Amino acid sequence: MTNVLPPVRYRIRPHRPDAHLFAVDCIVADPDPAGQVFRLPAWIPGSYMIREFARNIVSLRASVGGEAVAFEKLDKHSWRVEPLAQGAVLTLSYEVYAWDLSVRAAHLDSTHGFFNGTSVFLAPDGRSNRPCLVDIQRPDGNEYRDWRVVTALPRARDAAGAAWIYGFGMYRAEDYDELIDHPVEMGRFALAQFEAGGVRHDIALTGRHDCDTERLAADLQRVCNWQIDLFGTPPPMDYYAFLTMVVGEGYGGLEHRASTALIASRNDLPWKGMQGLPDGYKSFLGLCSHEYFHTWNVKRIKPAAFTPYDLANENYTRLLWAFEGFTSYYDDLALVRSGVIALEDYLGLLGKTISNVLHTPGRMKQSVADSSFDAWIKYYRQDENSPNAIVSYYAKGALIALALDLELRAATGGRGALDDLMRLLWQRHGQTGVGVPEDGIFDAVAEVGTTYGSASLGRRLSRWLKNAVEGTDDLPLPRLLKTFGVDYRAEAAGKGPTLGIKLVAGAGAGAGAGEARIANVYEGGAAQTAGLSAGDVLVALDGLRISPGGLDASLSRHAVGDIVEIHVFRRDELMRFSVALAAQPADSISLKLVPRPGERAGRLRRGWLGG
Ligand SMILES: [Zn+2]
Repeated sequence: MTNVLPPVRYRIRPHRPDAHLFAVDCIVADPDPAGQVFRLPAWIPGSYMIREFARNIVSLRASVGGEAVAFEKLDKHSWRVEPLAQGAVLTLSYEVYAWDLSVRAAHLDSTHGFFNGTSVFLAPDGRSNRPCLVDIQRPDGNEYRDWRVVTALPRARDAAGAAWIYGFGMYRAEDYDELIDHPVEMGRFALAQFEAGGVRHDIALTGRHDCDTERLAADLQRVCNWQIDLFGTPPPMDYYAFLTMVVGEGYGGLEHRASTALIASRNDLPWKGMQGLPDGYKSFLGLCSHEYFHTWNVKRIKPAAFTPYDLANENYTRLLWAFEGFTSYYDDLALVRSGVIALEDYLGLLGKTISNVLHTPGRMKQSVADSSFDAWIKYYRQDENSPNAIVSYYAKGALIALALDLELRAATGGRGALDDLMRLLWQRHGQTGVGVPEDGIFDAVAEVGTTYGSASLGRRLSRWLKNAVEGTDDLPLPRLLKTFGVDYRAEAAGKGPTLGIKLVAGAGAGAGAGEARIANVYEGGAAQTAGLSAGDVLVALDGLRISPGGLDASLSRHAVGDIVEIHVFRRDELMRFSVALAAQPADSISLKLVPRPGERAGRLRRGWLGG
């Protein structure tokens, strides 16, 4: 059947950059005779929290042929226009306030514009499967003459003068789902390019920076090529863009089918003459690698619960440990396997992930399956009790992926690996568009275990995985890593006893500065036992003033078991507590390559990490 239904047309213009306002028109050629309803998504796929983007719509007008027509608001993110005569072409015009400097919404000022479709494009009900045409317009004024556009949204073929890929003008999407999956950046970004898997990749950098773009492009090219090789060429997109907002302090990314929106700290980018591989740059490469891996895992291999997305409500799945956790495992793994970082660097990153999980008492209370399901109200809405109550499906999910990979490799003598599971999921779900059922990963693991080992291995690994994601036990990583010639050492993070608290970050730049306010009180720690609470401002220890930077030094002069007197302000009342100091838990993990690991361990290790 040919598609004869008219497309939904949009026009978007940064019409008042200084006031952070985009002007948007949505034009429907054949509005619903019963009264056309329009909705804005309540959340953006990839960030599992209700954000109610419609609150940034600041004015709205419906018209036919320039004449206003009536409409009513149905709920927080829906509007209905009155029934119209046949043949009437309906235009909905509205402004969107865009001043959210994040990867999740929209941001506009006189230096650049950025938007996600979920923030700016109202969806006409009943027309979500129609093609969309978008006219992206330049702001008025001479000062915007040199602005360009970068997006993975395809250019509309029939547009005049549309040959220039970075130009303003007509773009298109097959349907609304695609329309909102291509964020758009406009302004005076710097561009670096590379090719991977026969596909052009752009890195667009907005904001001031001194980035060595050649170095960045060369490193990312290796990472992207490795991932493309893992799933098989050609990659599932014909263009890819890393849309990067460079700021002083910031970190974040959101995945899309052919691009990612990133926020990066200026100092995390590589610079000309950079020596070695600074931690900040490693972490930025890890972020890029993470979002890129999502091109396959979550953008195409999707939970069945997300096919299609319910954009008006929470969209529950118990599988985020597989989509975020496995992606978190592969983000750093891709860096070492592609040769961008050294084995020792990789083990350093892995040790940090293990330490983070062990440092979270909530891992004993919440499984990663429950953490996935409750992401909407817990992981994405963390408070002072979160470390005691929840576990990250990112970090623990990554460790489950690691343990599964090592179990599979060890049991099959290195013939089978997690890579085979990812390829199976890709073939079965990513390439077919069939969503992964809630128990689909367990079944796929059974299949991979059977293929590369035996049916009983498949059953055992599948059962093991189910226990790991539904339970709260710590994973057998020391034993597994030893099999792979990696030494696992657990130590206390520092010398001296501890209160079992975390102070509010940035409270003081150095000893003596700022107030020492408690951010978190850890479950079962000395402070909690003594009655200290989050929000308390530490004033004195044994009568001597406490500063944020000096607390550890004060504690290190004491022994485990010492009773100290701590004064705090709570609700501006001075209160006194007797605290029995406790030993620091041995939850700081360092991983080292065993120098001469033996023939089997050496072979397994090379298969796992390369080198
Ligand atoms: Zn992710």
